[in-house]
Amino acid sequence: MGDYVRKAEREHRALMLRADREARRVQRRYFNALLLKWNRIVLTSPEVAEEIREEHAAQSRKYYHQNLQRSRRKSSTYKAAHQEGAILCQEIRTGRMKATDDGTLTVPVVRKLKAQASRCAYCDNPFVLAGEKQTDHMIALCHGGEHSMRNVVIVCRRCNGRKARLTYEQWLDRIEPQHRGRALALFNMRYGLGGKAHQDDAVGSLVELVAVGATQANSVPTWG
Ligand SMILES: [Zn+2]
Repeated sequence: MGDYVRKAEREHRALMLRADREARRVQRRYFNALLLKWNRIVLTSPEVAEEIREEHAAQSRKYYHQNLQRSRRKSSTYKAAHQEGAILCQEIRTGRMKATDDGTLTVPVVRKLKAQASRCAYCDNPFVLAGEKQTDHMIALCHGGEHSMRNVVIVCRRCNGRKARLTYEQWLDRIEPQHRGRALALFNMRYGLGGKAHQDDAVGSLVELVAVGATQANSVPTWG
């Protein structure tokens, strides 16, 4: 009797393993087909691929916000479980900062910029709590932006979080339309023909320009 049960179980298990293998094979074939299809789109019509990517990102963002509590819980659980990843990211970030640091963005300078800023450089919302003020690299460090006064603005937590790793161009797309003009003017002031900061090495005038960027630039009229 015992023999019979053992045999039946063994057979059952073999059957299950075979089914699992088959499922994995089908899965692999399915994903390979998808990947092939995707690669073909990327190669033949990159603009369509870009649209698909953007659509997918928009869906993810929508899901994230509709399930905010859950998404946050999920991401903090993930971070806690993958601390070595977070440390690596931090090291990469620090390395980028060091590599592009031109010496203008010292701790006292950052403190001063934060003290001077009364409104977010992007959304123009007044800062209520000092703790809200964050520094943002206009051209993100991950896109080769410098860790310098020219590249840094004082912004609110919300804008900083939303901008994250976007390129400045993508950020102009993402930012609310009524703030687009100001964000563009701010960029032009630092990097465009209007901004002389990069030609001027005198830290004094840099301080002036950055202070303008962080505070008065917010009153540049929107024309976007
Ligand atoms: Zn803001």
